[in-house]
Amino acid sequence: MSIENIRKQDPEIAELLDKELNRQREGLVMIPSENFASPAVMEATGTVCTNKYAEGYPGKRYYTGAKYIDMIENLAIERAKELFGAEHANVQPHSGSSANMEVYGALINTGDKVLGMNLAHGGHLTHGSPVNFSGKRYEFIPYGVSKKDEKVDMEEVRQLALKERPKIVLCGTTAYPRKVEFEKFAAIAKEIDAYAFADISHISGLCIAGAHENPVASHDVVMTTTTKTLRGPRSAIIMCKKEDRYHDLYHPDSKKDLAGMIDFSVFPGMQGGPLEHVIAAKAVAFKEAMTDEYKEYQRQIVKNAKALADELMNQGLRLVSGGTDTHLMLIDCTDLNITGKEGANKLADLGIYTNFNMIPFDTRTPFNPSGIRLGTPALTSRGMKEGEMKKVGVAIAAVLKDLDNTDAQENTRKTVSELTEEFKLYPDITYA
Ligand SMILES: *Cc1c(COP(=O)(O)O)cnc(C)c1O
Repeated sequence: MSIENIRKQDPEIAELLDKELNRQREGLVMIPSENFASPAVMEATGTVCTNKYAEGYPGKRYYTGAKYIDMIENLAIERAKELFGAEHANVQPHSGSSANMEVYGALINTGDKVLGMNLAHGGHLTHGSPVNFSGKRYEFIPYGVSKKDEKVDMEEVRQLALKERPKIVLCGTTAYPRKVEFEKFAAIAKEIDAYAFADISHISGLCIAGAHENPVASHDVVMTTTTKTLRGPRSAIIMCKKEDRYHDLYHPDSKKDLAGMIDFSVFPGMQGGPLEHVIAAKAVAFKEAMTDEYKEYQRQIVKNAKALADELMNQGLRLVSGGTDTHLMLIDCTDLNITGKEGANKLADLGIYTNFNMIPFDTRTPFNPSGIRLGTPALTSRGMKEGEMKKVGVAIAAVLKDLDNTDAQENTRKTVSELTEEFKLYPDITYA
């Protein structure tokens, strides 16, 4: 893979692409939503499919010339269904946020109630934050973690659902280190005749590999981004059951098929022409995800996260909920007398990329919160294992415990360069 043509036509962008490749190579990417897509996935996103308009669905397009595009999209659909065990898959959403908009649009009306996880406790912006379309358009009822152990208390969620009677019970998180109890969420939705909707954006790779419960069987609708642990291109898919559910948004007196409602909401409801080059990349990523090697990779992500969490705690740091069951963890910086932003910025100066994040019951603000969120998907893609995680944990803790300690910073910089030298990223790609 090279960027010869870009270099000829647009040296300014070519130079920045070089720099970005080197930044990724020479640093430790520990932002839990980031990962390294395979060269094959990246190649697919740079193909001629970007030229094709194909509004509609395979076999039902509004444009001619979609013969091969149909075959590509059908492969993506069939692979997604097989991978997750889904009855129906729509592979057209542009991103996780648009996919969530499309799911809400399919299932409920403006002003309806949705039960979703509080952003400050690990939910996503599109799960009802007041600054997001979701919080403006629908009445979100937030649930959070309990104060005693910083985990979701399912009986509290149930009581809230019984009291508020939302139309959708939404679960799924972006900064929650523990397992989501999908079957219990589905049972609560059933009890109040609401839709059960799971957003598994962060953990879908783990779900495929059996390293986390897969909600596809228990939930009406499941959405995932195709990035993050899944390790595909930047995009999303929606999966659902094919059963009939009463729905009054478009046809007040008819029974509608759930799959049809989702498809109709994606196109023409919310999007125009699908990004077929990205759909091709999703198909490639799904094929990669069917291998044993991929499943082993997912299990290693979780083992690595446990090893990293244990080492950080050994070093005296406090982790939200006392550890992790997944690919990510949250460091509470309160006792270190620094903010999450100060800590994350210092680590980034040394080549360790994390992000600052709110922690449950945070007394600080979202732009300068008390937590640092970090995880292991990208480092695991480079081939690192538990031994390397211990080194990384030592290096991170030494910096955070004393932001002015230049010796610690020098050591950490050395650890970063040793690890990135040993575990090469994209050895066959040259941009320069
Ligand atoms: C990342 C994420 C999204 C949004 O995905 P984008 O592609 O960034 O729009 C939605 N929900 C959850 C839980 C996420 O983690």
